[in-house]
Amino acid sequence: MEVREFRAGVGAWIDEVGEALVPAIEDQSVDAQLHHQRRVQRLLFDAGWMRWGWPTRLGGLGGSPILRAVLGEELTGRALVHTTSWSMHEVLGPAVAEFGRPELVEEIFPRLLRGEEFWCQGFSEPDAGSDLGSMRTSARPRGADWVINGEKLWTSWAHHATRCVVLARTGGPGSRGISAFLVDMDTPGVKASPLETMAGVDEFCSTSFVDVEVPAQRLLGELDAGWRVAQFILSCERGPIFWQRGAWLAHHLRLLLDAARDGASASALGEAYQLLWAFRATSKNTQDRIAAGDLPGPEASVDKIMIAAADQAVFDAARELLRGGMEIDDTAGSRAWRREWAYSRAATIYGGTSEIQKDIVASRLLGLPRSA
Ligand SMILES: Cc1cc2nc3c(=O)[nH]c(=O)nc-3n(C[C@H](O)[C@H](O)[C@H](O)COP(=O)(O)OP(=O)(O)OC[C@H]3O[C@@H](n4cnc5c(N)ncnc54)[C@H](O)[C@@H]3O)c2cc1C
Repeated sequence: MEVREFRAGVGAWIDEVGEALVPAIEDQSVDAQLHHQRRVQRLLFDAGWMRWGWPTRLGGLGGSPILRAVLGEELTGRALVHTTSWSMHEVLGPAVAEFGRPELVEEIFPRLLRGEEFWCQGFSEPDAGSDLGSMRTSARPRGADWVINGEKLWTSWAHHATRCVVLARTGGPGSRGISAFLVDMDTPGVKASPLETMAGVDEFCSTSFVDVEVPAQRLLGELDAGWRVAQFILSCERGPIFWQRGAWLAHHLRLLLDAARDGASASALGEAYQLLWAFRATSKNTQDRIAAGDLPGPEASVDKIMIAAADQAVFDAARELLRGGMEIDDTAGSRAWRREWAYSRAATIYGGTSEIQKDIVASRLLGLPRSA
């Protein structure tokens, strides 16, 4: 299917289905968000739209992966799903498809696409975030299988997830001794304890693993080669999910421009507009490269720096324009803007901090020397 035909078809379908796709703004809990997303995914899957851009062996209908970016854009650009949860199947799906045992992947993938399963990413630990290579969660062999022990932190939606991609140490120190596993969240010994963000939602968790038995076939890729899986996942984070976040930001900026009167907050709105469109132009190239079969490398760190700046600029402009009401009003609209502003503060942290991305740009793209 061609992009133009796909976009027109999705748009017409959205208009036809109408209200059933619109989230209730009054309830902004993570429970409500995920419940709504599941419903939307099921409708999309049954209508076929959710399946385009994924290979047929996974329950897809084939076609370019760029169709997935377009679907995300059409949904988040109308605020029908929230970008944060919508991104998870895009972050983890391609890696599990690439590195998972084919019979397992073919069994579970259609359920992921249909919204019957939700997955989470168990990378960060209390003492290992930017320096992920120092992580300590371990996987030790028991017969042909593995036993995982350790603690992960900031695991988004772990308390709602069916499975988790867990990085665990199987070899020596550093990034070479790490393996990746797909762990069922209902395995005895897994406990996800929700943490409330400053946006007031229990979006992520501290997730502990105590003597968690994992079958050998749940290893993703080769033993001790989990770093490759991690790098693959990190590059997926710069793909369609950035494109749809850009659409989400554009939607919010449009709302602000509609609300602005007599040039109010023109400078903040202008800056946000400029940063957002500069990001979208850069990201368009990245999406085209992914569609051509390329995996984004260190260049995508530029996309990450740019989208974080645009994200914060859009919601800073909201704060300036809606000053007063946005901070204290108890209407659903003000609560939603507050939540978005608070979440945008995390844009320079999640998926690799802006400082780390600048370091990557300096050393790997510009070849600048390191200071002593
Ligand atoms: C909303 C949100 C959702 C998240 N979801 C997940 C998830 O689902 N799964 C998951 O595994 N993780 C998740 N994370 C965690 C995220 O990946 C980490 O927060 C991030 O990698 C930074 O690690 P850290 O918090 O340990 O900070 P640290 O690494 O301790 O960094 C602290 C500060 O020091 C700076 N710094 C660190 N090292 C350097 C250096 N070498 N040079 C210059 N500056 C440096 C950083 O830029 C930062 O400002 C999420 C985080 C957020 C905010």
